Amino acid sequence: MLETLRAEVLEANLELVRRGLVIYTFGNASGVSREHGLIVIKPSGVPYHRMTPADMVVADLAGNIVEGSLRPSTDLPTHAALYRAFPSIGGVVHTHSRHGTAWAQAGREIPCFGTTHADYFHGPVPVTEPLTAAEIEGDYEANAGAAIIRRMEGLDPLGCPACLIAGHAPFCWGASVTEAAYHAVIVEELAAMAWMTVTINPAAQPISRALRDKHHFRKHGPTATYGQK
Ligand SMILES: [Zn+2]
Repeated sequence: MLETLRAEVLEANLELVRRGLVIYTFGNASGVSREHGLIVIKPSGVPYHRMTPADMVVADLAGNIVEGSLRPSTDLPTHAALYRAFPSIGGVVHTHSRHGTAWAQAGREIPCFGTTHADYFHGPVPVTEPLTAAEIEGDYEANAGAAIIRRMEGLDPLGCPACLIAGHAPFCWGASVTEAAYHAVIVEELAAMAWMTVTINPAAQPISRALRDKHHFRKHGPTATYGQK
């Protein structure tokens, strides 16, 4: 079932390793088939070099396992919550990539310091509120998803394709799992650049609205002119 999506999800997981975003078995990527209402996600704790498309786990949007003999990534309830809340997304990626995680641990959003950032995000990369003890002791992974969804209120998920969980790490998404993995790489690069920016100049300010909008809307939305169409 969902052979193409299984292969795509495996490939996205391997891309995270190739780009140095995950070590050991950290991180997870999933894709959704909106047509079938099913999620394909990485299994939990299987070394990347041994993973095959058949190892991917299939679950429904409520997080119930539909197919697969391995346990899914423990973050499945977070992925499922994001798919239910954001109908426009087709893939979700979670890593503990170094620089993105450092901003999450600092509890700081990543300001839009330059046009590289604005090409992908129409504003800062947001950060959630810290989870409460009740949220942590309860349905933790689902509550992590709920914290992201609350923080994303009023934002277009495809104009802001990631959110940091305070004290944890980034969750990224995109129109497909391939795009979600690409955004995870971009977020890590933006996080590193922003860290250097505030190191060089602690008083650095975000770019102007005009410059941000110019760059963002060159690549996104009805007025986009970037690339070959
Ligand atoms: Zn994590």
